[in-house]
Amino acid sequence: MKRILITTAIPYVNASPHIGFAMELIQADAALRFWREKIGATEVYGLRGSDENSLKNVRAAENAGEDVAEFVKRHAEEFESLQPLLDLSFDDFIRTREKRHIDGAQKLWSACKPEDVYKKTYKGLYCVGCEIFYTEIECPDRICPDHQKPLEEVEEENYFFKLSAYQDELKKLIESDALKIVPKSRKNEMLSFIEGGLEDFSISRSQERAKHWGVPVPGDDSQVMYVWFDALSNYITALDYENEGELYQKYWTSDESHRVHMIGKGILRFHAIYWPAMLLSAGLELPNEIFVHDYITVEGEKMSKSIGNVFHPKDIVDDFGSDAFRYFFLREMPSRGDGDYSAARMEERYAELANQLGNLVGRVATMINKNFDGEVPSGAWSQKTDKLEKAMKGYDFKKYVDLVFEVVYEANEVIDKEKPFKLVKDDPEAAKKVLGELADRVRWIAEALTPIIPTAAEEILKRYTGDKILVGDPLFPRRDS
Ligand SMILES: [Zn+2]
Repeated sequence: MKRILITTAIPYVNASPHIGFAMELIQADAALRFWREKIGATEVYGLRGSDENSLKNVRAAENAGEDVAEFVKRHAEEFESLQPLLDLSFDDFIRTREKRHIDGAQKLWSACKPEDVYKKTYKGLYCVGCEIFYTEIECPDRICPDHQKPLEEVEEENYFFKLSAYQDELKKLIESDALKIVPKSRKNEMLSFIEGGLEDFSISRSQERAKHWGVPVPGDDSQVMYVWFDALSNYITALDYENEGELYQKYWTSDESHRVHMIGKGILRFHAIYWPAMLLSAGLELPNEIFVHDYITVEGEKMSKSIGNVFHPKDIVDDFGSDAFRYFFLREMPSRGDGDYSAARMEERYAELANQLGNLVGRVATMINKNFDGEVPSGAWSQKTDKLEKAMKGYDFKKYVDLVFEVVYEANEVIDKEKPFKLVKDDPEAAKKVLGELADRVRWIAEALTPIIPTAAEEILKRYTGDKILVGDPLFPRRDS
C-alpha cells in the first residue's frame, strides 16, 4: 500500500466529547503519525468530523432551549478543538451540515441502482437515542434495550434500501478479507449477522418526523435521508466525491490506496453491512479494513450521565498534559475487550512516564555532559522496528507501547548494572561507549514514541540529535499531591 486513508466515526454532537471518543481519536492519530513517518507526508490522510443531521441533536437542542443550528455548531466546535488539545494530526474535519457533504450525500443516493431504492409504507418501533428501528421480537416489552426508554411507534411511507440483494456478496467480501474486519471476533460477529438474513432498511424519514432537519432526498422534498445514510457518506463527501476531485481519486478510488475505518463496537453493523452495500449499489470502491475497538469504562462501570461518571478529556489534559493522556489510553486499552480509566491508574501511568522515561532521558544527558562535554560516539546500538510495525498493522497499540517500554526499562537496567557514573573514573573509554549506546537507545525510543507522545518525543530528539547532547528541564515534572 502506498497511501492510507484513516477515518474515525463522526459522533453526534448533542453533548460534549468524553474520554471514550477521545480514545478513538488518539488511536487513529497514533496510526496516522506512524504511517506518515514511514511512507512520507503526502501519502497519509486522516479524516474526522461531526454528525449533525440527527433527530437526537434536534431534541437535545430543544431540551437546552437553543436554536438547533447554533446548538450543533457550538458542540461541533468543541469536538473540532480536540485537535490542539490532544495533539492530533488529522487533515480534515467535516461537518455534515456543510454543502460539500449535503451535495455529496445526494449524489450517492442518486448513484444507487434504481431498483435498490423503493418506497414502502412502514410501521415500526423506533428509538431516537439509537436512531434505529427495533422489532417486537427484539424488544417484546417495547423498551429500548440500550436506553431503557419506551420505543416510539411510527407509521409512514419511506424509501427503503434493498440490502437483501447484497447478502451473498457481503458474505464473500467479509469472509475473504477483501473487506477485512479486525479483530477476528468482530468479523465472525458480522458473518453470523449476515447468516441470520439481511432485511431491507428504511433510508428516509418524513420532513415532519425529522422536524425539517436533515439532508433532503433528491427529487422528493417531502422526505429527508435517514441520518445513517447521510452520515456514512461523509467518508467520501469529505474527499470531494461531489466533484470526484483529486483527494477522492487519490484516497478512495485508487488501487494504491488503503482505506481504513476506525470505529467502536456499537456501530459495526452500519460500517460492515449498510455502508458497503450502499457503495456496491452505487458502483463505488469499498473500504479495505474496519478496525473495531471496545469501550472505556470508569472504575469498572459503563460511563453514563445517570451514574455521573462521564469524564471529559479537557479536565484530564489540563491536569496531566496531552502526552500523558495519550500514553494512558494507548497503553491501557487492550486490543480486545474494554479498557478502564481511573484517576489512581492515571497517576500511576504518569509516574511511570516520569520515573522511567523522564529519568532515563535526564540521567543519560547529565552524565554525558558532566563527563564528556555532551559528546559521545553514536551508532553502536540499534534495534529493528519490524515488531513495532507488526503491532501497528494489527492496531495493537498496547503491544506497540509495551515493546517500546521494554527498551526503556532495559536502558535503565544498563545504567544500574554498568554504573557509567562510577566506571568513568576507572575506564573513561568504556564509560563513553556505554553512554553512547544509551544515547542510541534514547533516540530509538523517542522515534518510536513519536506516534504515541509526539510533544515529548520531539523534545527528546531535539536534545539528542544536535552536535552536543543537551540537558533540559524534566519532561514529566513531579506532581504536587
Ligand atoms: Zn435506544
